[in-house]
Amino acid sequence: MTGEGQIQGVNGNLIAVAFEGGVRQNEVGYAILGDRRLKAEVIRITGRVAEMQVFDDTRGLGVGDKVAFTGELLSVELGPGLLGQVFDGLQNPLATLADIHGIFLPRGAEVEPLDRQKEWTFEPIARPGQPIRAGEPIGRTKEGIFDHLILAPFDLRGDWHLDGIVDAGPYRVGETIATLRNTLGKERSLGLSFTWPAKLPVTCYRERLLPEKPLVTGTRTIDTFFPVALGGTYCIPGPFGAGKTVLQQVTSRYAQVDIVIVAACGERAGEVVETMREFPELTDPRTGRSLMERTVIICNTSSMPVAAREASIYTAVTMAEYFRQMGLNALLLADSTSRWAQALREMSGRLEEIPGDEAFPAYLESRIGAFYERAGIVELVDGSTGSVTIGGTVSPAGGNFEEPVTQSTLKVAGAFHGLSRARAEARRYPAIDPLESWSKYSGTFPPDEVQRARDVLIHGEEVRQMMTVVGEEGVTLSDYVVHLKAEWLDQVYLQQNSFDPVDSFTSTERQRHVFSLILHVLRAPLGFAAKPQARTFFNTVRQKFIDWNYTAWDTPEFAERENDIRSFLAPKVSGVAPRSENRNAAAETVS
Ligand code: ADP
Ligand code: MG
Repeated sequence: MTGEGQIQGVNGNLIAVAFEGGVRQNEVGYAILGDRRLKAEVIRITGRVAEMQVFDDTRGLGVGDKVAFTGELLSVELGPGLLGQVFDGLQNPLATLADIHGIFLPRGAEVEPLDRQKEWTFEPIARPGQPIRAGEPIGRTKEGIFDHLILAPFDLRGDWHLDGIVDAGPYRVGETIATLRNTLGKERSLGLSFTWPAKLPVTCYRERLLPEKPLVTGTRTIDTFFPVALGGTYCIPGPFGAGKTVLQQVTSRYAQVDIVIVAACGERAGEVVETMREFPELTDPRTGRSLMERTVIICNTSSMPVAAREASIYTAVTMAEYFRQMGLNALLLADSTSRWAQALREMSGRLEEIPGDEAFPAYLESRIGAFYERAGIVELVDGSTGSVTIGGTVSPAGGNFEEPVTQSTLKVAGAFHGLSRARAEARRYPAIDPLESWSKYSGTFPPDEVQRARDVLIHGEEVRQMMTVVGEEGVTLSDYVVHLKAEWLDQVYLQQNSFDPVDSFTSTERQRHVFSLILHVLRAPLGFAAKPQARTFFNTVRQKFIDWNYTAWDTPEFAERENDIRSFLAPKVSGVAPRSENRNAAAETVS
């Protein structure tokens, strides 16, 4: 029996509701305000009183108003039609809402998450009589470039088998396409979609695997120095304006994954609108089709209260898990998780809980941990693998990483891409700090090679600091050369122009190619007569490399520029002779 209640008190977005019947933690209820129904979620139960966060403006709600409980947890609808959509944190499709209500949404407006009119060509996979487990494919439909598998609901428990299934043909979300029967003779009908509680991890897989395969982002600093693994987690803390959002946008375009879920809690006014306007116009560099076809955007409009932000992060990760269950690699980009943490802090304050560090609730760390734990690469029941990778930005006040949200995230994240204010101010983008950042994952390059390059950066920084005190004359020629090497590595490899069509994405193959040439230069002793000669040398080679970075991979021009670089380097750097000469040399030795 679903409960019913009466409001006892209203405190901002928190309402206290005296209830009868059964009510559970995280259950959804609707506060009745005239002919409007305001969605709310139970966040604490004390005796016969449920405290609920309302996902809407509570103006006008008062003591004695009714609440209708639904008996259901806050859930996400999963099925075909998610891709390409822009949803709010409660999975209302924003375009449909706007069509019905205009730009200014009335309170309590709700729309079905998935289009009920659209027809999907369903093709059965499972056969009648076959046992069916949670998450098992029973059919498929074509959605854009994907084979969208129609899965058995994730909450299926016990022994079920397929009793009947429709023939191939067009069906709509909401129509029955199959029936299951269990050993007790109980029946259950399935449609193209089902729901799953947003705050519960989906666990119908065989086992969790170790995240070992690199997730290629195309950003050189990340892939070469601080790699991310498929099914791993990473965090991007950085002060306001350091480039967190831009970096995530670049990643959402170029990351070598199947599906990208963007959970956007805009920090700048208009930022979310920008994302929504820009995204549909972008093409996927790999398929040449609209990027939106593989993307879902969950965003919080500024008119929504904080509670909706809290929900959006769970809505997003649940969708990512759904695509993982189809054997796909999903990437969830959350920007910014600090907004989510602030929502927790605000509700915790209203609940008058004992505050922890910086007034965040004591459970902040476990909530953050539980969220990132939903990332992973898994072996599914049919033996295939799927993954959810989570990358979250953190925007600590004043850029101070010693605050609770950054620290709690660092405890669970597998990689740390710390953005530095100094780099951003010097317009050295991406502003990922090469000295502070780290990754626990292995990338495409042998660790000792990467370490060699990092050593140059570390040593170069020491020299730079020394020079600010003693001047250029105060350091030895060989120290000065290390400094020039570090600067050069930064300028031609770490820095990347995210607005250039070629430079914004560097494939693994290209990174390997360029980085190995760079290592030759870093390793070379490079005898110079004096500092000015050294400076001139690096100025020249810097410009040549930057031009090379802007040249498309695998083109005659690419090879030409490379040969020019090699010819220039050859007198000073061993093993870098131009390719054609290399080949001749090899031929000569053989004959
Ligand atoms: P944050 O999200 O950290 O507050 P943004 O990502 O919004 O910061 O970046 C702020 C501004 O910095 C951008 O509007 C842009 O002008 C500049 N910027 C950030 N990243 C880059 C980049 N990779 N290349 C060029 N400009 C950048
Ligand atoms: Mg931002």
